[in-house]
Amino acid sequence: MLISRTRALSSSVSRWSRAANDRTDADVAVLPTGGAGTVPGSRVSQTTKGRTARPKVRFASGRIELLGLIESRKLRNVRESKIADLVEKDQYLNDIEFDNKNFSLDELQVAAVLMLERAAPNAVFADKAGLMSLFDFVDSVRAVYKPNPYHDFRHAVDVMQFMNHLLSREDVVERVLAAGQGFPASGDELRFMLLVACICHDAAHDGTSNLFQRKTNSELFERFGAESTLERMHAWYAENLIESATLLEAIKPGSVMDSTQFLQEVRSLIMATDMEKHSALLSTFKASPSAQLLNMLIKISDISNVTRNFDEAKVWAKRLEAEMKLANSRLPPSEGATPAPPLAQNVIGFSRMFALPLIDSLANAGLQETSRALRARIESNIAEWERFSGDSLNPGL
Ligand SMILES: [Zn+2]
Repeated sequence: MLISRTRALSSSVSRWSRAANDRTDADVAVLPTGGAGTVPGSRVSQTTKGRTARPKVRFASGRIELLGLIESRKLRNVRESKIADLVEKDQYLNDIEFDNKNFSLDELQVAAVLMLERAAPNAVFADKAGLMSLFDFVDSVRAVYKPNPYHDFRHAVDVMQFMNHLLSREDVVERVLAAGQGFPASGDELRFMLLVACICHDAAHDGTSNLFQRKTNSELFERFGAESTLERMHAWYAENLIESATLLEAIKPGSVMDSTQFLQEVRSLIMATDMEKHSALLSTFKASPSAQLLNMLIKISDISNVTRNFDEAKVWAKRLEAEMKLANSRLPPSEGATPAPPLAQNVIGFSRMFALPLIDSLANAGLQETSRALRARIESNIAEWERFSGDSLNPGL
């Protein structure tokens, strides 16, 4: 039993690492460059108008034509060139250089479907009906996200994409599979579960904080309690979204992890994203890195914008600042909102106090390579922010 499990895990490691090179030219036909499909915001139906044969952009299985499927889902703000990039270039699904800000929400929805389709155990979503059900799931997740400046569907997909990046790193894959988080699950199931947790992790976020909920004695506070109010709500939404999409029924054949475990684990992953619990979770991780590894990976993915290239990181920082200002303006005057420090100073402080200790803790868990790589990126961004930190108005941003 032990031997067969070890074999299954190591085969999963090599399959994950190989995935980038697995597809053949036959799987993905190259779209013509510079055509109408490159116009931002163009509709698929418009971009294909008048063509006798639409270029085929296919899923990894090579059988399903993606653009037709997108059209049938009424995703209007989709550029063929971007979809081709998502399908052809693994960097868009795995790479830390993913340029989220250059994708429309509809395109990010397709990206999320592609990530889930490739992670799903036993290729259960490889036929057209399966893919439609994935589109439905992602669509229903997107529908509960609110148009906040920061905590919106764009952030959810970004966190998911960063998790996908982490899971493309060999040291992470090996440790995740070795950790197994104390329950039986195949490598594919873990990967799928992590991505599902990421896309649901801020479901229905209202652009405020747990402190805000307490200060305002809000309806959410009444319903979900004083501790981790928002995370409990996100987890509640996640469970309902997963159950009503019947995702678990789809992956059940051949699964070694039952539905209850899957839902419990998604809940626990979402609960780990509460920043008020940051120090406690970091201590627990240091004490038992293996048992807490998956929780740490979602935490890192959640704050990963400080590791993105500076242009991306800057946009995320400004979105978060805008959201916090909005939340402060909603506080009753009696609660006296404290003015936020200048943006650069705020990001540098967050990077040093929260992000770097989190990243450094990965080294204790045997992930030295990933820890080093992410630390270097955060330090480089801190150096960029320092150019502005002396000026409270952050000119030039
Ligand atoms: Zn988040």
